Amino acid sequence: MKFRHLACITLVLSCAATIAQSAPPNPSQVTIIRAGTLIDPRTDAPKHNQLIVIRGNKVETVGDEAVVKAPDGASVIDLSNATVLPGMIESHTHIFLQGEDPAKGGYDIQLLKFYPSYRAARATVSARRALEQGFTTIRDMETEGAGYGDVGLKRAIDEGYIPGPRIVPTTRGISTTGGYPLEGYAPGVAVPKGVQIVDGPVEARKAARQQLDYGAEWIKVYMTHRSWVDKSGNLVSQPTLTVEELKAIVDEAHGWGRKVACHAYNGEGLHRALDGGCDSIEHGLLLDDAAIAQMKKQGTWYCPTLTVYYTDWSPEDTSEGKRDRVRVADHEVSFKKAMQAGLKIVFGTDVGGFPWTEPIAQEFGYMTKLGMPAMEAIRSATTRPAEMLGMSGEIGVIAPGAYADIIAVGGNPLTDITELEKVKFVMKDGTVFFGGTASNAAH
Ligand SMILES: [Zn+2]
Repeated sequence: MKFRHLACITLVLSCAATIAQSAPPNPSQVTIIRAGTLIDPRTDAPKHNQLIVIRGNKVETVGDEAVVKAPDGASVIDLSNATVLPGMIESHTHIFLQGEDPAKGGYDIQLLKFYPSYRAARATVSARRALEQGFTTIRDMETEGAGYGDVGLKRAIDEGYIPGPRIVPTTRGISTTGGYPLEGYAPGVAVPKGVQIVDGPVEARKAARQQLDYGAEWIKVYMTHRSWVDKSGNLVSQPTLTVEELKAIVDEAHGWGRKVACHAYNGEGLHRALDGGCDSIEHGLLLDDAAIAQMKKQGTWYCPTLTVYYTDWSPEDTSEGKRDRVRVADHEVSFKKAMQAGLKIVFGTDVGGFPWTEPIAQEFGYMTKLGMPAMEAIRSATTRPAEMLGMSGEIGVIAPGAYADIIAVGGNPLTDITELEKVKFVMKDGTVFFGGTASNAAH
């Protein structure tokens, strides 16, 4: 683990040198990508021998190689032996978390002892990890005590100082007293919290206003906190905000044209999340039939984040271990029911909850294993979150007018989804970040 981490840092330094030279692209610069196979998530069948013409940071034309005329003087990137897809979208990340090892201080040490600059440096590596794995947009689901750090990193990425994806920042997150770590300290000891704590609708609305004012593009609310298994073996989770408190946040965010993502496992907290008007349910471990019906009716997005619940199980004979296993069993049933009901499912992993050295695209494996067709899984990481983020036609597609966010893999992900764990080429906003060398076209 340690070795892999060091390797990442070395790569970042060497990469940063090239980034400073290459970003952003000249608006008149024309690049052509020759795509052997092109997966367009808007259609079912892949196309072959396609030419993608990129001007500046946008896609200008896409079409058959025999039909599309290559502009004079364009540089060419030859991906004729590869499968080309739109840059992928990860809808639930934590760049400020590193899957903290309990033996090294776990979650708490980050807030108690780490300098903000140290946390920012590590988040810089996380951002690069997302991009090099083909995720050109991330919705980062709060900074875990690192304040508005996501807004600063977003700016550094957008201005070309560091490599990284487009970040949709949520800033600090919101929960209630008793609803988030740090916890377990003596009552007289003031400790920082991993979110902004609110009690009552007035404080809730004010927190939303503050976060929106400082750059939040979504608001993240924790509607459940602790979870355990009761005497009958059923999952129970502690609700946090009241419907009244949540409604104040949702009303405020919607007024700003922004949306609200709600962490909710099951039960009372999940139902309050839906009654309060959350735009997306995060995790949704145990979606009962009434919740599914309400999500369908309200058009609520579902970001299941399967991967994180398969990691770090406690021993089977402990209460935590039993809970970990019940959570996964319930989650698998919920995911299948959500698919059958036609809920709008978006790809997210909760990476940061597990180390950034792990492949993000392993989520596709869990989704397809639970019955989602490969093309649907690809849509959950392209066209569908683009719609959720209000960016349909701009990201998640390779089409005229879209940002030139383009990736390539060697094999066919429709027959072997693990190909998406081996991304070989990444272009974001018209700039090549990883793989692919451009040559000048003959004409
Ligand atoms: Zn999360």
